[in-house]
Amino acid sequence: MHEAIYQNYIDNAFVGSEQLIEVYNPANAQLLGRIPEASGAQVEQAIAAARKAQKGWAAKPAIERAGYLRQIANKVRANAERLARVITLEQGKVPGLAMVEVNFTADYLDYMAEWARRLEGEVLTSDRVNEHIFLQRKPLGVVAGILPWNFPFFLIARKMAPALLTGNTIVLKPSEETPINCFEFARLVAETDLPTGVFNVVSGKGATVGHGLTSHAGVDLVSFTGSVATGARIMAAAAPNITKLNLELGGKAPAIVLADADLDLAVKAIAASRVINTGQVCNCAERVYVERRVADAFIDKIAQTMAATRYGDPMKQDDLDMGPLVNQASLDKVAQMVRTAVGQGGQVITGGNVADLGAGFHYQPTVLAGCSADMEIMRKEIFGPVLPIQVVEDLDQAIALANDSEYGLTSSIYTRDLNAALKACREIDFGETYINRENFEAMQGYHAGTRKSGIGGADGKHGLYEYTHTHVVYIQG
Ligand code: NAD
Repeated sequence: MHEAIYQNYIDNAFVGSEQLIEVYNPANAQLLGRIPEASGAQVEQAIAAARKAQKGWAAKPAIERAGYLRQIANKVRANAERLARVITLEQGKVPGLAMVEVNFTADYLDYMAEWARRLEGEVLTSDRVNEHIFLQRKPLGVVAGILPWNFPFFLIARKMAPALLTGNTIVLKPSEETPINCFEFARLVAETDLPTGVFNVVSGKGATVGHGLTSHAGVDLVSFTGSVATGARIMAAAAPNITKLNLELGGKAPAIVLADADLDLAVKAIAASRVINTGQVCNCAERVYVERRVADAFIDKIAQTMAATRYGDPMKQDDLDMGPLVNQASLDKVAQMVRTAVGQGGQVITGGNVADLGAGFHYQPTVLAGCSADMEIMRKEIFGPVLPIQVVEDLDQAIALANDSEYGLTSSIYTRDLNAALKACREIDFGETYINRENFEAMQGYHAGTRKSGIGGADGKHGLYEYTHTHVVYIQG
């Protein structure tokens, strides 16, 4: 890819900004392109364009709106290889995973389009004679979608597909780390006849463009995916306008391995979950609680599996399991967390260092044993290929430790005992639990967290309805 300059997409026109931000390839730290730092006026224009378009868009039959989503899905599929390459270049994930992300995005657009004929209201029985009570779902208006960098392309669809299908219009801000795929998506949208102003992209920094969107009185829903710290800032920015929020924040997913588990399955699923996207996934195993009886065997097997992970520059080798971390700050954070864990008594079983590959932000796949609940590495989101392990005496202790977290997004348990699995389901306080299976959500499910992992959720019927409000009408006959 040649170094290129990208432009905002406002009211169906590509418009540049005076200030530019540089975007780098994390595998080799080379410059990939320059993106706009949208001005305050451009943020205003984008919101105004979305506002102007919204009533006409909502007035269309839902099946017509769905038709545009399908058109875009087809364009994504037709350009899948190019898009996957862009994602790998700017985000660092391996090509196979980038292709999964692109195809999942197209399928997600189609999936949300299927809801067009399934959106339902309700008719309620009344306490009065000859009265009819209708509940109907209506769009909120203008959505501001703020995106993270880890699955940047999929997150576009996760926000715009339910927003548009239900009659909202949208202004998206991609992460400044991985914005290029979003401009490529906008190019595909521009090739369709989607009405002017329905879909807009403004790019730039969080503190400027992101804040401009989230503090704006003309935005009816902020749909944000990112860190807890930014989520809290967005809540404060949205507070004066009482803007509705949908916050998908961080995770610290516990994986509980009981003594009766299929250990090979647990090892395969947990290691894959720690290595996928170089550990930079909100739902993936961030800490393990293993029952003492199988702890040595588990640690031995998972260390072998992690040590066999192939990593490097994904554009140079096509058989890798993982690429680099997204930037120098992430690399420094992961390295610091491992050093602190070792200082607090953690034992490095494999890995434990920055990987010197000449350039880029690579960290060795790492297993840390001997961890305990008071260690930072068991409490703070790592977002890297590092797996800390704590030995527990039984399921009760594992559940208590799992729940003792400021995060509540995903969790997993490995056991052959149905009663143990059911007990975990009853007592574990998380939005999502995987039993004997890798951490990966389905588009028809509901991805949401408790505690600081967020407010509201995404996917499926329940995620779709977050983009609506419920209007009740009383008709006296
Ligand atoms: P981040 O919070 O640093 O940035 C996310 C986005 O917010 C970026 O577009 C950024 O520019 C913007 N932003 C930053 N400051 C802002 C402000 N003051 N106002 C408005 N916008 C602002 O997060 P990240 O580093 O891009 O993503 C990693 C985090 O995202 C991790 O914590 C991860 O767990 C979380 N995540 C959660 C989910 C989920 O579904 N729950 C999915 C993916 C990632």
